[in-house]
Amino acid sequence: MNEFDIIREYFAPQPVTRPDVVMGIGDDAALLTVPDEHELVVTTDMLVAGVHFPEATDPHSIGHKALAVNLSDLAAMGATPAWFTLTISLPQAEPEWLKSFTQGMFSLARQHEVVLVGGDTTRGPLTLSVQAMGFVPRWQALMRSGAKPGDRIYVTGHLGEAALGLLLLRGRLQLPEEYQRPVLDRLNRPLPRVAAGQGLRGVASACIDVSDGLVADLGHILEASQVGARVQLNRLPLSLAYDPVFEQVGWEPALSGGDDYELCFTVPAEREPALRKAAARFGVPCVQIGEIERHPGLRLVDEQGALYSPKISGYDHFR
Ligand code: ADP
Ligand code: MG
Repeated sequence: MNEFDIIREYFAPQPVTRPDVVMGIGDDAALLTVPDEHELVVTTDMLVAGVHFPEATDPHSIGHKALAVNLSDLAAMGATPAWFTLTISLPQAEPEWLKSFTQGMFSLARQHEVVLVGGDTTRGPLTLSVQAMGFVPRWQALMRSGAKPGDRIYVTGHLGEAALGLLLLRGRLQLPEEYQRPVLDRLNRPLPRVAAGQGLRGVASACIDVSDGLVADLGHILEASQVGARVQLNRLPLSLAYDPVFEQVGWEPALSGGDDYELCFTVPAEREPALRKAAARFGVPCVQIGEIERHPGLRLVDEQGALYSPKISGYDHFR
C-alpha cells in the first residue's frame, strides 16, 4: 500500500460534503470559500505518540482527539468550524489501524459538519498534526484580551475529569468501576464545546479553552487582558468521579490537570441575562467560579476565604 493508496482508501472517502469546498483532496492545494463579511480562523495542534497520548492508545481515540483538540481551539475563538487538514507520519500502513483511526476522526467530523480538505502523508514515528479552519462574523471573534475588572469568570461542564483519567491509566488512582469509563472517555475522546463557543459571541468578553489546566489557561486571559482574578475553589464544577477520591487527589486535577477542553470565559455583569439565554440554547452548563479584579495575579480562595496556592500550575512541554 503506497501513500496514494492510503489517501484514496482512507482519507478521501468522507461522511460530509460542503458547497464551500471548491477543491478538496486531490490537487496541489485546497480551494475554499470564506463567506462574505467573515474572518478566517485557523489553528493547528500536533499530537506525538508517547507525549500527547500513551503509545498504546486505541487508534479510534487518536483520530477523535487529533480533530477534537483543534475544534476546541476554534470553539474558544467563537468560530464556526468548516475544514481541516491532516499531516500524518506513520510507522507502517496497517489497514486495521487506519480504518479505526479514520472512523474516530470522521465520526467527530460528521457531528460538526467539517471536511478533511488536504494534508500530507509520510512514513516515520507516529505523529499527527491537524489544522482546523472556520470562520466568524467580522470583529466578533472571542479573544483572550477582553476581560475587564468586574467581569464574572465562568467555565463550561466539569473540570479535572481528564486528569483523573490519566491518573487512573497510570495506575496512580483507584476509582470505583462506574467512574472509570467516564474519566477515560473524557481523556481519550474529549468533546469540544463548539456550540457553546459560537453561542458566546457577543456575550463573553474573553475566552480560552482549558487544555493545560484552569490555572494556566485562565492565567493566559489575565495576562492578555492585563487584569487579575479571584476564584472560589468551592465553586469549581468538579466531576462526579471526584467524590470518592477528593481526599486523595485534592484540588490539583481540577486546577492543573489538562485535557478537559472546557471553555473558560468572562462575562460583563450587564450581559449575564444574555449569557443565561445563550446557555439555554447551547445546552451546556456554565458555572461562575470567580471575578476579574484590577490587581494582577490569580487568587484562589477556599471556603474560609484563605488563599490557596496550587502545587503545580499546568503542563509545559519544556519544563
Ligand atoms: P503534493 O506532492 O502536492 O504535496 P501529495 O502527494 O502530498 O501532494 O498529496 C496529494 C493530495 O492528497 C493532496 O491534495 C493532499 O492535500 C492530499 N493528502 C495527502 N495526505 C493527506 C492526508 N493525510 N489527509 C488528507 N489529504 C491528504
Ligand atoms: Mg505532499
